[in-house]
Amino acid sequence: MTIKEKIEGLREELRQHNYRYYVLDNPSIDDFEFDTKLSELIRLEEANPELFDPNSPTQRVGGGVTKNFVTSVHKNRMYSLDNSYSKEDLLDWEKRIQKIVGTAGISYTCELKYDGASINLTYENGRFVKAVTRGDGVQGDEVTANIRTIKSLPLVISEDFVKDFEMRGEIILPIAGFEKMNEERVVNGEEPYRNPRNTASGSLKLQDSAEVAKRPLDCLLYQVVTDERKYDTHYDSLLAAQKVGFKVPDTITLANSIEEVIAFVEAWDEKRHDLPYETDGVVIKVNSIQLQEELGFTSKAPRWAIAYKFKAEQVTTVLESISYQVGRTGAITPVANLAPVHLAGTVVKRASLHNADQIEKLDIRVGDTVYVEKGGEIIPKIIKVELAKRPLDSKATAYATHCPECDTELVRTDGDAKHYCPNEFGCAPQITGRIQHFISRKAMDIDGLGGETVDLLRKEGLVTSYADLYELTKEQIIPLDRMAEKSAQNMIAGIEKSKEIPFEKVLFALGIRFVGETVAKKLAKHFKSIDALLAADIETLVAVDEIGERIAQSIRAFAEEPSNTALITRLKSYGLQLQVSEESLANQTDKLAGSVFVVSGVFHQMSRNELKKAIEDNGGKVSSSISKKTTYVVAGDNMGPSKLTKAEGLGIPIISEQDFIDMINQ
Ligand code: AMP
Ligand code: ZN
Repeated sequence: MTIKEKIEGLREELRQHNYRYYVLDNPSIDDFEFDTKLSELIRLEEANPELFDPNSPTQRVGGGVTKNFVTSVHKNRMYSLDNSYSKEDLLDWEKRIQKIVGTAGISYTCELKYDGASINLTYENGRFVKAVTRGDGVQGDEVTANIRTIKSLPLVISEDFVKDFEMRGEIILPIAGFEKMNEERVVNGEEPYRNPRNTASGSLKLQDSAEVAKRPLDCLLYQVVTDERKYDTHYDSLLAAQKVGFKVPDTITLANSIEEVIAFVEAWDEKRHDLPYETDGVVIKVNSIQLQEELGFTSKAPRWAIAYKFKAEQVTTVLESISYQVGRTGAITPVANLAPVHLAGTVVKRASLHNADQIEKLDIRVGDTVYVEKGGEIIPKIIKVELAKRPLDSKATAYATHCPECDTELVRTDGDAKHYCPNEFGCAPQITGRIQHFISRKAMDIDGLGGETVDLLRKEGLVTSYADLYELTKEQIIPLDRMAEKSAQNMIAGIEKSKEIPFEKVLFALGIRFVGETVAKKLAKHFKSIDALLAADIETLVAVDEIGERIAQSIRAFAEEPSNTALITRLKSYGLQLQVSEESLANQTDKLAGSVFVVSGVFHQMSRNELKKAIEDNGGKVSSSISKKTTYVVAGDNMGPSKLTKAEGLGIPIISEQDFIDMINQ
């Protein structure tokens, strides 16, 4: 076998695995095997640069940076769609087309209208060459490097299909992935994204394709555009596209009459709420390609297709008051308190007003009757004010000037949409929020102490910072509401135990703005101690992989605040891990690299957390739920029966604590 054949063989093999994993959700090898093959391919490609291929599976991770997106003219115009809103509209539409083509008995393809950003993908000779956004329909921006990172999209079509074609589809962000991105942003003190659609379309225009590769984007395809007349119907062309690897949702349905179309629409108006991604309607297309050609286009849309828009559920209610919430970082969020009202299956009492600009834009006032909608957004939003119902004595909303909690004057820096309470060390929700973050599971993981107790301790004047936790005594705690000897003892023991928590988690626990879990891990690995980190200047910080200007500045701001350095000194004196331990440096191996472990049950020789740490120190990964990706389940006493069944069902080896210890001591 020549090197060329070897490389091509590996590429094809990895493509198949990618397809099984990202499109079929049914992998046939584990991550470790996949990574081994991928590393082999990377090695071969590096040694043979003349065999470079932009469509190789190695290019999926991104890396290319686009400074300016080039404009590109679409070979075939990207039209818009006419809309319909009722059964009657659909019946009228059918009458119009019947008149043009002069036949009855037309069949249709029904598809969901995926709510994201449209994309036009060009394939030549079965190979992906270009991706362009819709733009104005005639020309858009070329975003090829970014689209290449979407793992479910096939880049090379090796099976029987048309050769030269454009594939039209929608770039979407599934709801679960969107929520996960937002959770991370909140932890990092960043403003959460508003909705999946805007986030998906924003992702297309990121300059760094490696950033795009990290986002859980997906691409759902809905149209094959080609001069080759290989398929007689739109439905057949989609099934063929699905067969050669494109992600064409299984929800597409052939309808033999407009009544069947209407039944599809009605069924999905209900079922759409259970989909993993958002949809705002249905797209109905005449199935026969020949009839499509006869029907043609108006100046703006095809005559052979129509969108049916679901009604966003909307109600009116009264704005009773506006309150202001203070977050852990001091950010202020205005909240609309509404007269309770039923909407899309839940009772809505509150809606976020986001910031001062939003309030001004809506000109919303207490006493106003407002329209509330649950459309694309997860959180209900206020669409507009019913001015006709505005009370005569209503006054324009004056945005809060002072913190609702500590009465400090709020600040707003240029370019920031939010107001902040600058009273970092004296403002109750900020103090409580920081301590709650400190003790949380992913940070110091303090057992025996909950979020409400933290607030109680603060109210009683027992803590004003997380350092104060380490000076609490049992005698101080016992008299508190709902506390007893035993619970006080547990709390003290939990706090004591947290002194063993490794440096990277302590660093995360400190709550430095923008230093989330992953950033903390990176920094800990690089600087190895809090002293080295806090002594680093901006230049040194941004030189670290993935640390940007914003994070660097936030670390400097933290380091330069004397109250913070005083806190660190105290934490050191209590014996917290403020540097990477010698032992952990010495104990690190990559024996378990590529393996994913799930830990379940009670253990004897080490605690659950020690076990997890041992897995990570030896290069393995810990996951909380069993899936096809799990390599081993380490089972202690009383392993959950559902976990057991699941592991057995998937054929995942279940090992004991002792097996595991033998594994790492080998
Ligand atoms: P509009 O933007 O309202 O004119 O609707 C047209 C857009 O709907 C297209 O540009 C696509 O991005 C999007 N779309 C979503 N799902 C489909 C689908 N199944 N078929 C056609 N277009 C779709
Ligand atoms: Zn305040």
